[in-house]
Amino acid sequence: MSRVDDEDFSYDPGDYYEYVERMEQEVIERFTEERLQSLYTAQPLLALPAVGSLKEAQALLDSHPTAALVFAAIAVEIGVRDVLLKPIVYGLVQSDSVASLVADLIAAHKADRVRKLLFRIFQEHIGLSLDTHSRPGARQTPWEEIQLVRGNRNDVLHRGITVEPAMAVSAIHTAAYILQGVFPSAMGFLNLHLHEGLKVCAERSCKPTA
Ligand SMILES: [Zn+2]
Repeated sequence: MSRVDDEDFSYDPGDYYEYVERMEQEVIERFTEERLQSLYTAQPLLALPAVGSLKEAQALLDSHPTAALVFAAIAVEIGVRDVLLKPIVYGLVQSDSVASLVADLIAAHKADRVRKLLFRIFQEHIGLSLDTHSRPGARQTPWEEIQLVRGNRNDVLHRGITVEPAMAVSAIHTAAYILQGVFPSAMGFLNLHLHEGLKVCAERSCKPTA
């Protein structure tokens, strides 16, 4: 995208935003199922680290809720970044390193406009909203839940606070929603399915084991 903050360049900000909106709409419309599938089929175990962190969080919940919250936050962070956002960026750029970089920036809340665009692609092509509707039983949108978990994790890591079990439970619910709710549904929309709840399979004739 061209820079428009050059002093010699006169432009109408209204035109510029209209141009950006048009480009964004075009990006959304040009996405195909095949492009969205590409990273999932190239890296069928891409959810493994996030699912492992969620299991660790569940195992720690009764005895160490603060540690459970940290592991749930890791599951949320890498789940959103590697399982939901990076495959969309990869579908756009077809480059693992660029996709990682952009997904990193978004997960670190440094590219909000791009994040909104990816969420629109996700909503229009996969049929699930991450920032406009809350999941059943939740008052906040998934993106707001994700930010809450991130804030709580930072309080633990940077201020050494301990948390109530309820806070860890809620972080685990957010992580489980992403990995056991959004992820399998997204695979269904893309005509893929999961084995053991995490391994992506594109074989239409095979029967998923879980
Ligand atoms: Zn299969």
